[in-house]
Amino acid sequence: MSKTIIVSNRLPLQLSIENDQVSSHPSVGGLATGLKSVHRDNNGLWIGWTGLTKEETPDHLKSEIQQAVTNQQCAAVELTQRDMDGFYYGFSNRTIWPLFHYFMEYAEFDDENWEIYKSVNQKFAQVVLENLEDGDTVWVHDYQLMLLPQMIKEQRPDVSIGFFLHIPFPSYEVFRTLPWREQLLNGLLGADLLGFHTYDYERHFLSSVSRILGHEVSFNEITFKDRLIKVDSFPMGIDYEKFSASAKANYQQTDKTQSELQRRLDLHATATPDAKMILSIDRLDYTKGIANRLRAFEHFLEKYPHYSEKVRLVMLAVPSRSNVPQYQVLKKEIDELVGRINGKFSTVSWTPVWYFYRSMPFENLIDLYTSCDVALITPIRDGMNLVAKEYVATRIDRTGVLILSEMAGAAKEMNEALLINPNNINLIADTIKEALEMPVEEQKKRNKFMQSRLKRYNVEKWASDFMVKLDAVKGNQTVVK
Ligand code: UDP
Repeated sequence: MSKTIIVSNRLPLQLSIENDQVSSHPSVGGLATGLKSVHRDNNGLWIGWTGLTKEETPDHLKSEIQQAVTNQQCAAVELTQRDMDGFYYGFSNRTIWPLFHYFMEYAEFDDENWEIYKSVNQKFAQVVLENLEDGDTVWVHDYQLMLLPQMIKEQRPDVSIGFFLHIPFPSYEVFRTLPWREQLLNGLLGADLLGFHTYDYERHFLSSVSRILGHEVSFNEITFKDRLIKVDSFPMGIDYEKFSASAKANYQQTDKTQSELQRRLDLHATATPDAKMILSIDRLDYTKGIANRLRAFEHFLEKYPHYSEKVRLVMLAVPSRSNVPQYQVLKKEIDELVGRINGKFSTVSWTPVWYFYRSMPFENLIDLYTSCDVALITPIRDGMNLVAKEYVATRIDRTGVLILSEMAGAAKEMNEALLINPNNINLIADTIKEALEMPVEEQKKRNKFMQSRLKRYNVEKWASDFMVKLDAVKGNQTVVK
């Protein structure tokens, strides 16, 4: 029976070694959920890195780790610390990530990192080729593996290959600054179907292919040698049922003293019963616009002083890539801004910004989503932004206002949100006021539309749409030949 091989940088499992024992748990992230039917239910195989480098893996535990990986229908690609530094922290996160998010001044062009990126993609290709059988389909994910489709196609032209990019694809003018632009495009063109979150990213990619490589592009098809390659947009959804059911359970729960967070939320409600809460959740990343968001909140408190003690910004910043220098600088900037705002506006009974620098367990995230009246999501650039979708999905009584940056891919599907330009501090401040004062009926009307869309285009639908399209492309190619 033919199978689908999924390839991503990280495997969908959490491995840990404690007291010389290996334990492994499936991860519950959105991608793993969306691909469950492709992976688990259809005898698929997931190939990726375990999260432990070669140096971190004791020799005597190697076979146990191998077993744990195999048990979860996965196969591991072994990476060294040097691989991780050059491929992941280096080329992926210091070159591609900033450039594709239009932070050109942050992009480093380092030959050694590029060489390691190529060799790590080759390591992934090796494991894929070892596991590939006739009739199999391969679905490659994201910017860490852009050379992989070509590496597989060259060895196995018969295999059907899909690629999905989870971050934006930048405009030609930005992409063409990359020294290895031809190689990356050729790497991607090993796929038969290329998927992006939005039509704009798709268009940017097609324009780079036609202007840099000179290939014939018509509508969303590329003719490349004897192959027809399709390019399409598939906006990724969320596990709607999971978020909505957990929020429902949270609403019905009477014993609300279980978490520290919930206790603080309750305390806040008792001390200032009419105060509203604004939510901000992201990884601490310069693309997320966290500093501008804080400046906008500060401006809002200055411009509308009657909101003193009547509103609070609950800000969760999840630590991320903290060994990349720009992330360290950003952390310092955010710490200072929070300190400045709290120093300037706090009263004896009120702190305007609650700042958490850590990740939270799922239950606490649901607490946050369901307790906050407004979600303020203002990325400077974001491929999709799932937090925006999760917030709306958890609003069981349909109240709540989403303020969303028009630079997030999610904005294309969430027109009923209050859309803002993340660089316009004054506009964000005014929009916060508008959100706080929006009549309940209007909140419900807007959320109703967004919820029904999110429910329909959930993450499973996203995955199955992609797979159906990939099958169809392969079918068409056979007819063309
Ligand atoms: N998230 C999480 N733990 C946290 C905070 C957030 O697991 O403490 C999840 C959140 O539910 C969402 C994801 O992290 O599914 C963030 O995805 P998004 O697309 O918003 O941003 P990304 O981090 O992928 O750029």
